[in-house]
Order: sequence, then structure tokens, then C-alpha cells
Amino acid sequence: MKLDDINFDAKHIWHPYTSMTKPIPAYPIVRASGVELELADGRKLIDGMASWWAVIHGYNHPVLNQAATQQLKKMSHIMFGGITHPSATALCRQLIDITDDKLECIFLADSGSVAVEVALKMSLQYWQARGEARHQFIALQRGYHGDTFGAMSVCDPENSMHSLYHGYLPKNFFVQAPQCGFYQQWQAATLLPLQKLLTKKAEKIAAIIVEPIVQGAGGMRIYHPNYLTAVRELCDHYNILLIADEIATGFGRTGKLFAYQYSAITPDILCLGKALTGGYVTLSATLTSRHIADTISKGKAGCFMHGPTFMGNPLACAIADANITLLRNSPWQKWVKDIETQLMDELFPLRDQEKVTDVRVLGAIGVVEMKNSVNVPELQRNFVAEGVWIRPFGKLIYLMPPYIITAPQLTKLTQAIKKIVIKL
Ligand SMILES: *Cc1c(COP(=O)(O)O)cnc(C)c1O
Repeated sequence: MKLDDINFDAKHIWHPYTSMTKPIPAYPIVRASGVELELADGRKLIDGMASWWAVIHGYNHPVLNQAATQQLKKMSHIMFGGITHPSATALCRQLIDITDDKLECIFLADSGSVAVEVALKMSLQYWQARGEARHQFIALQRGYHGDTFGAMSVCDPENSMHSLYHGYLPKNFFVQAPQCGFYQQWQAATLLPLQKLLTKKAEKIAAIIVEPIVQGAGGMRIYHPNYLTAVRELCDHYNILLIADEIATGFGRTGKLFAYQYSAITPDILCLGKALTGGYVTLSATLTSRHIADTISKGKAGCFMHGPTFMGNPLACAIADANITLLRNSPWQKWVKDIETQLMDELFPLRDQEKVTDVRVLGAIGVVEMKNSVNVPELQRNFVAEGVWIRPFGKLIYLMPPYIITAPQLTKLTQAIKKIVIKL
């Protein structure tokens, strides 16, 4: 990539959450393989981000490449209206197989945010079909569910800048983020804010939406499984649907195939994305029960009112199907456990650093929370100089590497964090 291209990018192309007038530098990556990203100048970086939770098996994986090229030779895309194809059925069979028995009806969409929109719409249509006026949702503070409007309306009101879209966003209810950490002794008082809200508002609520166990982009918080169990009980008690957004946590990242399994609950609606295709192409899935699907179908519209152009895209489905097979045939539990152990060994000592407030680890997720917000462009420059790709946000420096990372590669990531945190 020439300098000219990099300047063109800075001038004309938006990147996630960036200014067009003062963009932060974008590094030119020309290829990636395994857990290494290759810069235009030939330098290689160890990837600590898995391209935001997605690339669980590493880049340029022969099995996924093969699934993509085989599907390309058949058809890259075909409309899903009135047509089906073998890659969609194969993928959906697997999704039903690996998730809870009750989840057996699947809606395929293009991205995580759309999967959340679909989940919210399913909940609203479900209650409409039952003749109940339930038009609002309960979400957790510090939650993140995507950037489209419905999804944004259930994101943390401050992190997602609800004030920017004031007057347009639907108004939902928020309860304090779970205060009891994953490894702490369970404290039932953590539930009080939710219990209190429900005693007042339950009959207006269509669903409660949560990220099971790990709140991702809203703060990388890891909470106690009993909280999720209790949310399920409260949903049952008040007859409210439970939406589990596992777009970040799904497919083994936390040490369970799905994080809701830490609490042995069944969500009514489950959203999947990110690692669904091993990070190859965008695809998401929203799963629900036969009861909910049937109820929606008996409603006024007689159908579920959503149908994206690229629904069930064969290329994406073929890769996702191969990705799940690859995962199921791999020793992913051991990989994730080994990463967890190593992250604990190598990151926990940073708790002694004055500028560090907390270090958290679960599965293949390691988080160093600083006292103050970090200078992202500066840290990124320092990390690249160390030969690693780590992208902090706010006060958080965190790792969620591909599961295939080796111990020395992971050490390189944790050493880079250590070196830079000590200097801050
Ligand atoms: C990333 C994410 C989304 C949004 O997915 P996109 O594919 O970026 O639209 C929704 N929920 C959670 C928990 C996520 O981590």
C-alpha cells in the first residue's frame, strides 16, 4: 500500500467511531495469516483482538478458505425469499444442535446489530400477537448491543450517547450493571435494582436483554452467573422474555460454548454474530423457541416482519457451517483454558501497578482497567512498535486473541501490555 493510498483513506474513508477531520492513524495491513497481521512495510504483528471477538481460528485458515472457494464455485449469493440452499440448512442444523434444545427457529441476518433488531422485533410481535401492550425493554447499564437504532436504545445510555439522538430513540429502562463479579461471593443485593424496577413496570416490559456473563464493549465487565440465573427466574415470574445477546461471548470465548451455560438457563431469544463465521464475513443469527415463533406467526401480520436482501447469504452460511464444524472438532476448551491460565499468570501481577484499577480474566478474555482513559493513538503506536496489535478503548486495555495463539505469542502480547502500562 502506497503512502498515497493511506492519505486517501484518511481524507475520504470513515473508520469506526472516528472524526473525518482529525482521524486517528489507520495502519495498512496487507495480509494476515494465523495470528499474524502483516503491515505494508513487511512488519508482522501478533493479533490480540481477533478482529473484535470474531477470528477464533486465526486468519487465512485453509479449511475456511476451502469452504469459501467451494461455495463461490456454486453461487456466492441467492435470494432467500422463496428459495433455500444446502449451506443455510447445514448451518442451521448445527446451530440448533449446539444451542439449547428449546431454541429451534432461526432468523439469519447480516450483522450483530441486525440480529438484535430482529430479537427486539420478535419480542414486540410476540406480545402484540398475545394481545398485550408491552412496548418497552429492560437493559443493563454498561451494556452494548450494537449501533442501529433499536440496538442503541438498549445500550448503556451514556456510553452510546443516547443524548445525541434524543427525541428519536425509543425510551427503555436501565438497571445498574451487575455489581457482583464472576469470582466474588454471590451477593443477592446485586439484584435489588432490577427487582425494584420490575415491581413497578413489569406489565409494560416485552423483554429483558443482557449480554450473558461478560459485558463487552460497554466496559468489559465479568459478572456472577447467579445474576443471570436470577434474571431468568424474574423473567419467568413476571412473564417477560429474556434475550441473550451472545454476539461477543458465543462460540467458546468465555470457556463455555455459550456464556449463558455458566448459569444453566435457557434464553427465549439468542443473538449470535461475530465469531459465527470465524471472522470471515458478516453474518448473524437470532434463535428462538417454537412457542415464540408460532405465537408471532399467529399474530395480525401472520408472519415475522423482516427480510434483509442478503438474508441467508450462501457464502457466509458455508463459511459459518465450516467454522462451527472446525470448532466442534477442535480441542477449543483446552485452548481457551490454557489462554485463561496464562492470562491470569501474566496479567494479574499488574494489579500492583498504581495506575491500574483492576485486572479481569475469563476464558480467552483478559482486561486491564486503568484509572484514567488512555491515549489510544499513542498506545497503539507503542504496541505496533512492540510487534503486537492491541486496540484499547477508554480506560481499558484488553486481549481476546484467536484461540490458536501459542503460549510464546500470547506472552508477547502480555509483555507488551506490561511494558506499556508500567511506563504510563
Ligand atoms: C458487536 C456486538 C454487537 C453488534 O454487532 P455488529 O456486527 O457490530 O453489528 C451486538 N451485541 C454485542 C454484545 C456485540 O459485542
